[in-house]
Amino acid sequence: MKKIIIIGGGIAGLSAGIYAQQAGFETEIYEKNSVVGGQCTGWDRKGYHIDNCLHWLTGTKKNTDLYKIWENVGALSNDVTILQPDSFYSIEREGEKITLWKDLERTENEMLALSPEDKKEIKKFIANTRMAESMKMPTEKAMDMMNIFEILQFGMSMGDMGKVVKEYGRINVGELSERFKHPLLKAMIETFMAKEYLAYSLIVSYATFTSGNGGIPEGGSRAMALRMQKRFEALGGEVFTDTNVAKIKIGESQLAAGIELADGRLVTGDYIICACDTDFTFQQLLNVSYMDKKLKAVYDDRKNNPVISSFHVAFGVDGKLEELTETLLFECESLEIGTQTTNRMSLKNYATYGPNMAPPGKTVIQSQFIQYEQDYDYWKALAQDKTKYETKKMAIAKAVRQRIETKFPAYQGKLEILDTWTPMTYHRYCNAYHGAYMSFISTVSSQTTMFSGNIKGLDNVVLGSQWQMNPGGLPTAVIMGKFAVQRILKKDKRKR
Ligand SMILES: Cc1cc2nc3c(=O)[nH]c(=O)nc-3n(C[C@H](O)[C@H](O)[C@H](O)COP(=O)(O)OP(=O)(O)OC[C@H]3O[C@@H](n4cnc5c(N)ncnc54)[C@H](O)[C@@H]3O)c2cc1C
Repeated sequence: MKKIIIIGGGIAGLSAGIYAQQAGFETEIYEKNSVVGGQCTGWDRKGYHIDNCLHWLTGTKKNTDLYKIWENVGALSNDVTILQPDSFYSIEREGEKITLWKDLERTENEMLALSPEDKKEIKKFIANTRMAESMKMPTEKAMDMMNIFEILQFGMSMGDMGKVVKEYGRINVGELSERFKHPLLKAMIETFMAKEYLAYSLIVSYATFTSGNGGIPEGGSRAMALRMQKRFEALGGEVFTDTNVAKIKIGESQLAAGIELADGRLVTGDYIICACDTDFTFQQLLNVSYMDKKLKAVYDDRKNNPVISSFHVAFGVDGKLEELTETLLFECESLEIGTQTTNRMSLKNYATYGPNMAPPGKTVIQSQFIQYEQDYDYWKALAQDKTKYETKKMAIAKAVRQRIETKFPAYQGKLEILDTWTPMTYHRYCNAYHGAYMSFISTVSSQTTMFSGNIKGLDNVVLGSQWQMNPGGLPTAVIMGKFAVQRILKKDKRKR
């Protein structure tokens, strides 16, 4: 039986492991952390659970191609309750509030009531969201492995998506917000995701939610990753946690011999799947000379292919904070976070994620602030002095708490700071490039948005992670894990 070594036990690595076991390989996953899941994780603090991934999972609608993949890898099943909140996100400004509801008609009516003068743009926004509900991802085969007929067939299966791309594929979120006249509508469009994203990304994200294909599996992110580990182990695969991989050892004639662990041990295998950050893969595990030219060009062009990260604070709340039903963005006294100054903040209540998120009668809330690559540099420099780094994080957490208490005065003295984390946390935890937990943002000027999983000059090593398709995310990770095994089957001259 041939053996596959997988570096990284995130969603991509676990998916690769499951598909590899199902294809009859002997499979081992090596994960540096003590728990699998990578960026799809959560942790416990002071009796609370801090979920740090799932805001929505694309593919929760039964009978879709993606649902079948999530089902195959054990992430979803009839036994896993899918939470389907009423609203995607709300924003408040100067006493007015607007919500992106699951019910598109309700959103349209609210937008029109708020700003009749924006009727034309509102109608377009709603109509395109409706069309984008037919958006699909390639789940059968990687695009670079499809023939022309398969590519055409895939394109045709997406109905009116072409129209959405035409309307919103050449402007970014910031430019879309400028099309609206009402300041609250402008703010609503501009703040949900970084304004550099193509406007199309916002429409597709919202459409995933309105179509009922973007729910949240009860129990959250860590529980989902652990279900996948269980499936992998039930199929006979082995996971080695707390096992840091230091190098891929190159043998003879374009073949890797195996991996070298940080403790010096060597592990041999027939194939290797790199299911971790691609920058780390080429800079540390291999050699940058193996990096595909297109991918190298994207890393070298930081302006047109940005990545983002976040600063977060989690609070335990003595009470349920029921007035905060989902994610709310509101104006607040100015805050300085990294190199950014903002007078808006977001707040999300995790009460809906299941009964085990907080002790009875309490809840967890989180604030998340977008951080750019210059902020990563800021936190990296600050982290050189641990005391300064910790002091800064705590000072921001207290400032954020004060603003929440101003917004919800009944909760004065009832918020306990549970944890704060920064772009450096993502770097430390997952070797994440510039602290990014998603892949590159496709901007108006991005040239390449998909990257092959094959490595020129190495016949038995393939890539399988979210970094192979912008903008990354959980569905990309699970699909790329599957495709990595398809690449190996092809190299092995097997169909399945
Ligand atoms: C706050 C937040 C919110 C998010 N929200 C969503 C959302 O709502 N929907 C969505 O689809 N996505 C979301 N994401 C993104 C999603 O989590 C990622 O896209 C996905 O988990 C990436 O999976 P991956 O397996 O490709 O990479 P990773 O999760 O990075 O996995 C790589 C693994 O490799 C391991 N590794 C790295 N180096 C080594 C080494 N040397 N040796 C051994 N192991 C190593 C890492 O520890 C990690 O476990 C969110 C992420 C965050 C952080």
